[in-house]
Amino acid sequence: MDPEAPAGDSASQIYAGSRVCITGGAGFIGGWLAETLLDAGASVCVLDDLSSGNPDFIAALVDSHPERCRFVHASVLDPRSLDDAMERAQVVFHLAAIASVSASMRDPERCLDVNVRGTVETAQAARAAGARRIVFASSSAVYGDAPPVPTREDHPCEPVSPYGGSKLAAEILLGVWARAFGLSSVSLRMFNVYGPRQPSESEGDESAVVSAFAARIAAGRPPVIFGDGAQTRDFIHVRDAARAMRLAGSAEAPFRGDSFNIASGEAVTITGLARLMADAAGARVDPEHGGPRAGDIRASHADISRARAALGFAPTVGLLEGLRDLVGGSGSAGRRASA
Ligand code: NAD
Repeated sequence: MDPEAPAGDSASQIYAGSRVCITGGAGFIGGWLAETLLDAGASVCVLDDLSSGNPDFIAALVDSHPERCRFVHASVLDPRSLDDAMERAQVVFHLAAIASVSASMRDPERCLDVNVRGTVETAQAARAAGARRIVFASSSAVYGDAPPVPTREDHPCEPVSPYGGSKLAAEILLGVWARAFGLSSVSLRMFNVYGPRQPSESEGDESAVVSAFAARIAAGRPPVIFGDGAQTRDFIHVRDAARAMRLAGSAEAPFRGDSFNIASGEAVTITGLARLMADAAGARVDPEHGGPRAGDIRASHADISRARAALGFAPTVGLLEGLRDLVGGSGSAGRRASA
């Protein structure tokens, strides 16, 4: 049983002895998800092309669970490998993606190919395998630049980047696959996910702002804020994001392309984040400012009441606790980071 599972989370029992497939399972969120599902007793097959994933982490997971963890080194654009990875999978978690707004601005065609066609290939393979459900890693980027905040799922989606557009297109297509072919699907619109093992090298990419700030503060350098710093974000710890995915895969409701916000439900400005992190590290650092970046959204703050009601989802790691943990304080949220 996951010792940190909130009361009423019966996912451990449901996954014990089951087979799941995780596309993108060598990545930041996928790695945490693989670990939590293995802890819950599932047999896990990870398919990943390692374009941004961590081969050492996956190798360690396979080594520690040789009978229940398998790795397929391949792309979601390769149907044969998908069929292999999904053999007898009951639940498919689809996280493989070009997961960066800035990369999507540089190469929109590649982003659409991997994120949209890759989702269709994944859905087709999930059907062929007879999977019960596909859980999709969608994003708050589907809402666009100026949704009313806190944003609810029924707000019209007007993405402002190819990345956001690709996530919305994939959500729509999964809804089509549910209605046309009976493949149950759930899209989780994750807001800013942070936590241990998030790569910090993609400093220019806003999804990794916490790890980028942490790396700069650890090196005694000031965090770099793009724009005026008054833009808001809603940060969710990676353990909570992985738990939300696990809950979405095990929920009994017959989801047919339903979408849920996954976030803390609290907004913080980027300037406020830099201050919180500097305080948590006991460092005195005045941020530097760079120009605003194309595709960045202004306000991001989720209403999470729908996920609370339908999935029983509630965040368990507070922002201060999670940040202290990352920058050397006394928190406990990431204590399994080196597992
Ligand atoms: P990540 O880059 O660490 O993980 C993505 C994984 O997909 C990587 O391991 C990469 O190697 C793999 N991949 C990329 N292209 C592939 C392909 N063609 N075939 C197979 N594997 C491929 O990113 P992450 O932060 O862990 O994000 C995971 C998912 O969650 C992504 O779909 C992302 O869009 C979504 N998401 C992330 C956040 C966040 O804040 N990190 C927020 C919202 C949504």
